[in-house]
Amino acid sequence: MMYVSPKKSLGQHFLTDTNIARNIVDAANISKDDTVVEIGPGNGILTRLLAERAKRVIAIEIDERLIDKLIEEFGSFNNIEIIAKDALKFSFNEIEGRFKVAANLPYYITTPIIFHLLESRDKIISMTLMMQREVAERVAANPGGKDYGVLSIAVQFYAEPAMNFIVPPSAFHPRPKVESAVVSFSILKNRRVEVLDEEFFFKVVRAAFNQRRKTLRNALKAANLPSITDNALDSVFAKIGIDPKRRGETLSIGEFARLADTLYSL
Ligand code: SAM
Repeated sequence: MMYVSPKKSLGQHFLTDTNIARNIVDAANISKDDTVVEIGPGNGILTRLLAERAKRVIAIEIDERLIDKLIEEFGSFNNIEIIAKDALKFSFNEIEGRFKVAANLPYYITTPIIFHLLESRDKIISMTLMMQREVAERVAANPGGKDYGVLSIAVQFYAEPAMNFIVPPSAFHPRPKVESAVVSFSILKNRRVEVLDEEFFFKVVRAAFNQRRKTLRNALKAANLPSITDNALDSVFAKIGIDPKRRGETLSIGEFARLADTLYSL
């Protein structure tokens, strides 16, 4: 494949270590019946390995220069489809059947692309995504630590993330400034917890983390959620048995759900 100079603005850090590429594809657990969607195939290092194992690979790339190269390289493969598009604007629901996702994500769109994919969660079996290590740690974090926040809860509401392995900057060209990590997500059959109103649930979660250092009670007070008075807050905490002096970062998703539902019912 001819050399295409990497564009920083598109998050182009190409994997050069084929062992790591193989480890990512192993983690994606692909079999001959699988359709795999790859975001940002770049030079096609993962694409080729995925196509050896999958029934069908759909690779979505935004950079026209790479599209030409990918078509040149994979034109003769009957199970690779190259799509020239911004993955954020791609409608994953239109893909026939359910599919797995595998990608070395462009870092600048990691969070929006995860959310965009989760909107199509009914179609997705699993996702194996390489991202910046720091983001991976936030995605997979448990309550209590500094990494736990809105991103952890938003992802874990729909999926079960698991850290696979860390990838050093030396595995890429050009080298990124930070370490990367590969995370697998299995999509939950049902949301992790049932809530009365999803939008309100996330309002409460965002309010709790907006003022991370405040107690839950003060953070919620400061958020001015509609029709929630001080008295109402006190009675809600008493009713659900959550100490209002706790910080939001110590609450499990289940506890947030109880809190949000009780507030919502007022
Ligand atoms: N898969 C290749 C690899 O592992 O070497 C390339 C990974 S590189 C980190 C990210 C790739 O995503 C680049 O090829 C970049 O052009 C592409 N990309 C960036 N933004 C994109 C977008 N919005 N939609 C689709 N692809 C995008």
